[in-house]
Amino acid sequence: MSSTTKVSSAVMQTYNRFPITATKGKGSFLWDDSGEKYLDYTSGIATCNLGHVPDNVQHAISNQLEDLWHCSNLYHIPSQEKLAELLTEYSCLDQVFFCNSGAEANEAAIKIAKKYAKDKGYDDRTEIITFEQSFHGRTGSTMAATAQEKIHQGFTPLTEGFRYLPFNNKESLSEIDNGKTSAVLLEVIQGEGGINTAEKDWLKQLAAICKQADILLMIDEIQTGIGRTGSLFAYQPYGIEPDVITVAKGLGSGFPIGAMLAKQHIAASFSPGTHGSTFGGNPVAAAAGIATLKEILSDGFLENCKEGQEELFNQLKSIKEISPLIKDIRGKGYLIGIEVLNQASAWIEKLREKQILVLPAGEKVVRILPPLTTTKEELQICIQALKEVALELGGNTNG
Ligand code: PLP
Repeated sequence: MSSTTKVSSAVMQTYNRFPITATKGKGSFLWDDSGEKYLDYTSGIATCNLGHVPDNVQHAISNQLEDLWHCSNLYHIPSQEKLAELLTEYSCLDQVFFCNSGAEANEAAIKIAKKYAKDKGYDDRTEIITFEQSFHGRTGSTMAATAQEKIHQGFTPLTEGFRYLPFNNKESLSEIDNGKTSAVLLEVIQGEGGINTAEKDWLKQLAAICKQADILLMIDEIQTGIGRTGSLFAYQPYGIEPDVITVAKGLGSGFPIGAMLAKQHIAASFSPGTHGSTFGGNPVAAAAGIATLKEILSDGFLENCKEGQEELFNQLKSIKEISPLIKDIRGKGYLIGIEVLNQASAWIEKLREKQILVLPAGEKVVRILPPLTTTKEELQICIQALKEVALELGGNTNG
């Protein structure tokens, strides 16, 4: 360590961490280093969709660890092939590029959109459209794709080629097909940006414009995917067919893996040497992905979540009735936002005092992300605590 600096941690301070040192997780619960137990409704930021350390994924990882950890993508990897087959069987996409995180999956999507436009001779199509309040990652291009000024601050000049439009705004749809657009990238439910859900009409019109002009419709399913919003992917109930989707977070149940899925004629734009990743889809990560998907796709799994999801939403609506601080309840499945008039942090801190962990989505939205495996009893613990917090905070907008 340099002799001039004194720091409290050798880890760079890129996160405002909660005052909890996490040491163990199982199911919906997280334990700290003093043995305190918390109901974890952050799910590792929408990642541990099967709860912490799910048995079947643990077994799959352990078994794979016996045989082969890593060999690079210079070889065929059976578990990677199998995972790609599952992802394409249960989506409208045909081929998969594997990587290790959400930002990398979006980087791959951005690159394939550029390459596809070049391959098709669309030389003027140099822009990708994204939407206000979006979040697509922290790397150079995905940060530029993220249409939030606070994310850009201090990092100019940004990567060029992104144009931002208002979300859910029908008037601005006419600006999409302007001869310069190669692709549109969006979240069907904006997660970090405040749990904003795309309206069906708007998204269908957007999809039709893209299809008509051969503009790629790319859906970022990194937070919404793998069952989080009630279907395997959030685009599916909209009756649209994206050209590209990106997945990460929930795919490995907490084991790092990301993926970019594309339709065949677009996937063809990536040939050997155009893109790659040393670790992407490595045997252990792919084994975690297969075990996760098998569980989520198993008979009745997503159907069985619906009752709890409706119960949570309805109970939150009734808490809204008793709290003048709650402005709106929104979201879908187990991706739920409570918009408040005071600071979301006031709610989050009070819930933490009651051993319940939830997250913000911006300053004014409390984000609740239970694992899909949570029980009715656990949901009641969270609902009861939220009621108490609503009463404790009363109508105090400063709190
Ligand atoms: N896209 C969306 C919608 C996200 O929510 C996130 C992370 O929160 C990302 C991309 C970036 O994913 P990662 O942190 O794995 O790079």
